[in-house]
Amino acid sequence: MGSGPSLLHREDIHVVIVGGGYAGIQLAKSLKNKARFTLIDPKEMLYHNVGAVRSCTEPGFVKKIMIPYAPTFGENFKQGTVTAINAAEKTVLLSSGETVKYSHLVLATGSTGHFPWSLPDGMTTAAAVVEKSEEVLKQVKAANKIVIIGGGAVGTEIAAEITTDYKDKEVTLIHNRKILVDGESSDAFQKRLKEILEMLGVKLVLGERVTNLAELPTNRVETATVMTDKGTEISADLVIPCTGLKVNSMAYKDSLAFSMEDNGSLKVNNFFEVQETEGIYAIGDCTNIPETKMTYRAGMHAELLAKNILAQETGGIKKEYKPDPFIMTLSLGRKAGMGQKGSSLLPEFMVRMLKSRDMMAWKVWRDMGQSAPS
Ligand SMILES: Cc1cc2nc3c(=O)[nH]c(=O)nc-3n(C[C@H](O)[C@H](O)[C@H](O)COP(=O)(O)OP(=O)(O)OC[C@H]3O[C@@H](n4cnc5c(N)ncnc54)[C@H](O)[C@@H]3O)c2cc1C
Repeated sequence: MGSGPSLLHREDIHVVIVGGGYAGIQLAKSLKNKARFTLIDPKEMLYHNVGAVRSCTEPGFVKKIMIPYAPTFGENFKQGTVTAINAAEKTVLLSSGETVKYSHLVLATGSTGHFPWSLPDGMTTAAAVVEKSEEVLKQVKAANKIVIIGGGAVGTEIAAEITTDYKDKEVTLIHNRKILVDGESSDAFQKRLKEILEMLGVKLVLGERVTNLAELPTNRVETATVMTDKGTEISADLVIPCTGLKVNSMAYKDSLAFSMEDNGSLKVNNFFEVQETEGIYAIGDCTNIPETKMTYRAGMHAELLAKNILAQETGGIKKEYKPDPFIMTLSLGRKAGMGQKGSSLLPEFMVRMLKSRDMMAWKVWRDMGQSAPS
């Protein structure tokens, strides 16, 4: 934020940030030394879910994707779960019973899904994540026929991770659409992606919907038959679901139901202000902004909101958020990667260096101002 305006002298300003994911930590960093803030998250550490795919194949990698909040944010970090908001009193209620008063409330509660893509409620310590992650590593190692359900970015990346590290395993990726990863990607992206996956030995079943997911044993080695709506049957001994990320609305669903979309996201305007509220904002995955949800976009929301809060309180001019051109990078195992910016493909060596090498863990540790474990 450079040496711009500061609100540190203003006792009446207290920005409460609910959620320490990519949006929340960026906002906290942008407000550091500029305004009084408290970052609240149930976990003791940021979980860099971008790297979760590698934690399924590389022993010990999970430790590189958990960065403790305390060394970065000190007393500005409060471990806790927000369960309600009292907009009239301008307070949030924590599950411990404690209330925290705010002048500006920023909801950055993101989304939630299956482990290891996201952490279940109650899994709040690095030690608990390491233990559960070791179990996933064991299951992947023991399996021979793996079926991955869902060909979004996560399903595609995990298929490539497994075939890169285990040449002897049969890996099938089933996706209900013909297009993998993201509808915003170009034909050239799709063509090159399918070439790389084929080279790695991933079998693709596209345009078919799995019909028996609810009955399948998932994330543990057990014989099963995966069935699709086109009549395809695939035998598996490990089924990994990569579908169903949901907006995490636990903090506000009872208090702000009137400002929520059916999927749980919050209706915001171009200044991230939550509809029909005052002093309440939302950024990152929990907003209804019509764009593919991504870490860099969560970070952009946060940086702009920090500037706007500072501007608003110091007589400056607020700026509207305008979704930027599409950028996506995809790691396809340690040795391959590809990406797209606007409508052009990114140089593959660049994506390999930036992302595939260590899933950008280096960047998150650097952004948190800490050194990664070796
Ligand atoms: C496996 C996986 C891989 C991905 N890979 C990429 C990628 O390579 N590139 C990319 O751009 N995007 C990627 N994404 C998408 C990206 O992770 C999201 O867009 C990003 O996490 C959004 O950040 P966020 O801060 O909005 O939410 P999150 O990162 O989901 O963070 C939300 C935070 O809120 C906290 N929280 C929730 N409820 C409460 C509560 N009641 N009280 C207090 N705190 C609460 C949670 O503990 C969490 O820390 C990936 C997503 C997944 C799941």
